[in-house]
Amino acid sequence: MRLDKFISSNTHYSRSDARKLIKAGRIAVNGEPVAAADTSVKSKKDVISLDGVRIEPIGEIYLMVNKPEGYVCANEDGEHPTIIDLLRDEANFVGARKSPLPLQDLQIAGRLDIDTTGLVLVTNDGQWNHAITSPAADCKKNYRVSLKQPLDPSVPERFAKGIQLEGEKRKTRPAFVHVITPKKVRLSLSEGKYHQVKRMFAATGNGVKKLHRESIGGVFLDKTLKPGQYRLLTEQELDIIKRNTERGI
Ligand code: URA
Repeated sequence: MRLDKFISSNTHYSRSDARKLIKAGRIAVNGEPVAAADTSVKSKKDVISLDGVRIEPIGEIYLMVNKPEGYVCANEDGEHPTIIDLLRDEANFVGARKSPLPLQDLQIAGRLDIDTTGLVLVTNDGQWNHAITSPAADCKKNYRVSLKQPLDPSVPERFAKGIQLEGEKRKTRPAFVHVITPKKVRLSLSEGKYHQVKRMFAATGNGVKKLHRESIGGVFLDKTLKPGQYRLLTEQELDIIKRNTERGI
């Protein structure tokens, strides 16, 4: 990895700050001052220091966020606040964190619409993200859905067989409906097409009033997290996701 990238990924400095630090002679690799931002470094082997103090590699980060309404699942957005804005605010973090978050390296593992609430997973581990979001992973997501109209009794069977959405080549994968009340259901999906839940109900002549994601890959949103708060996933939760995406990881 490039030296400036290593610094920006493992400290709160941006890539351009990192270049300035290197230019100013404040960065050393294995004890030797280095002047070129594109110097290649091995993050686990080389010792990189700033003003003589080692910059520890942060390693992989796995977070769960309780997404509130009004936030977009993007790293940047000109119009709306983003999930990354929530993470930038340390006051939203629950628990003990040892290192700063490499905000520019974070990826959102399965986006939610601006008006959808609930569980969002965020990581700097691209492989893990792919294992959760790639169609081959078959990773289950559960949603609580408030409907505009009472559920048509034919819908559970239609969803279980798969339905044809406009603009899609294939039918949706089997999805399972658990009826709570005529206008409230739980839906279990193993794929994540664009606006999938809303489009599936629209295809049955219904509309979604409220949508909330409760779980991904067997990991449930921590009920103690208030909207906007986030925490690290536990080892146990990481194991659960690993088991439930075995084919993908
Ligand atoms: N399906 C949707 O329609 N919206 C979401 O935010 C998630 C799934």
